[in-house]
Amino acid sequence: MSEIFKGSFTQQEPIPDEAIEAALTVLRTGRLHRYNTAAGEAGEVALLEQEFGAFTGAKYCLAVASGGYALGCALRAVGVGPGDPVLTNAFTLAPVPGSIASVGARPVFVGVTENLVIDLDDLQAKSAEAKVLLLSHMRGHLCDMDRLMAICDAAGITVIEDCAHTMGATWNGVPSGRHGAVGCYSTQTYKHINSGEGGFLVTDDEEIAARAVMLSGSYMLYERHLAAPGPEVFERVKYVTPNVSGRMDHLRAAILRPQLRALNSQADAWNARYSVVEDGLRGTPGLTLVERDPRGRFVGSSFQFLLLDWAAERVADVVARCAARGVELKWFGGAEPKGFTSRYDSWRYAESAPMPASDRILAGILDMRLPLTFSVDDCALIARIVRSEVSAVFQSA
Ligand SMILES: *Cc1c(COP(=O)(O)O)cnc(C)c1O
Repeated sequence: MSEIFKGSFTQQEPIPDEAIEAALTVLRTGRLHRYNTAAGEAGEVALLEQEFGAFTGAKYCLAVASGGYALGCALRAVGVGPGDPVLTNAFTLAPVPGSIASVGARPVFVGVTENLVIDLDDLQAKSAEAKVLLLSHMRGHLCDMDRLMAICDAAGITVIEDCAHTMGATWNGVPSGRHGAVGCYSTQTYKHINSGEGGFLVTDDEEIAARAVMLSGSYMLYERHLAAPGPEVFERVKYVTPNVSGRMDHLRAAILRPQLRALNSQADAWNARYSVVEDGLRGTPGLTLVERDPRGRFVGSSFQFLLLDWAAERVADVVARCAARGVELKWFGGAEPKGFTSRYDSWRYAESAPMPASDRILAGILDMRLPLTFSVDDCALIARIVRSEVSAVFQSA
């Protein structure tokens, strides 16, 4: 009898009791809008911004309605406009090129390596093509950030980091999101802290911060922020920055504050699960693990491996056989985008040149979430199932 896994790959942990209590307190006041505060009250959103700013070591922090909103807001705040080219990853999720399209700009895709990070040689080759890079740390894989910043600094490229999968991660001890001009994060249910929808943007640049606050829909209430620049900076931007409403509210902020305090221990719990899957899959014939650079501290909230140079129908066979045993693998190489999988050539609103080296890698990427509702033993079982099905299909060749 072969083993079957019964857990749900989309079931996150419940919201902690402390966060539920904080939410009830906000609900009882009726003051959910971030600028609806009583005399002397800072409000949950302003406090959360202060705390997330401190967590990342950023001077300024803005909480917003979603991670995708944070990306679009950052692009606008650094001055990207209609028709502008923006470098970005060929391997990422749809809201990343979508945010570029949302400001009327044009994605210029940069390839992916076998380590699932942006191809820095390709970035170097394309560095004269755009003035902004929207860098996605897709699935938490961190590239050599020192080299990336050297390339971008030399070319005069402003870097915006999409840290939807790297909240809590670091590169050489520096929090992810703090190498570029702006770091953007998501607090959507499938990310590292959960408010259903939500996001952050952090920066040390006072002008970008003030523009972002105005863009997010502050009206002239920006002085209520605790992690924004002083009023003199707003004087320079307030008449020329449109209100593209996308604020966070007190209810979401209230449930995020306790979760932020627990993030580092949650990251340890994710990494314990990640390493059990990794150990269980190591040495599987035909399967390539994605090695992590030891300079990065990642948060292992999902797991990827490669079936490099496998025929499509054999990869599909592995996916079907694992699914029959309860293990949901998402394949980025399928002919059609499914669920959240899509790739640069799926985004037909954006032109792209063929990228054969990246296509080879994308064709072999398999992905699964590791929610914290899985135990370490669950993860060992998942690895045994994947290992046996990959081996079976590989050996039938
Ligand atoms: C989730 C996600 C986003 C967008 O975040 P939302 O909060 O869902 O808008 C951006 N980039 C990546 C890589 C993501 O996974």
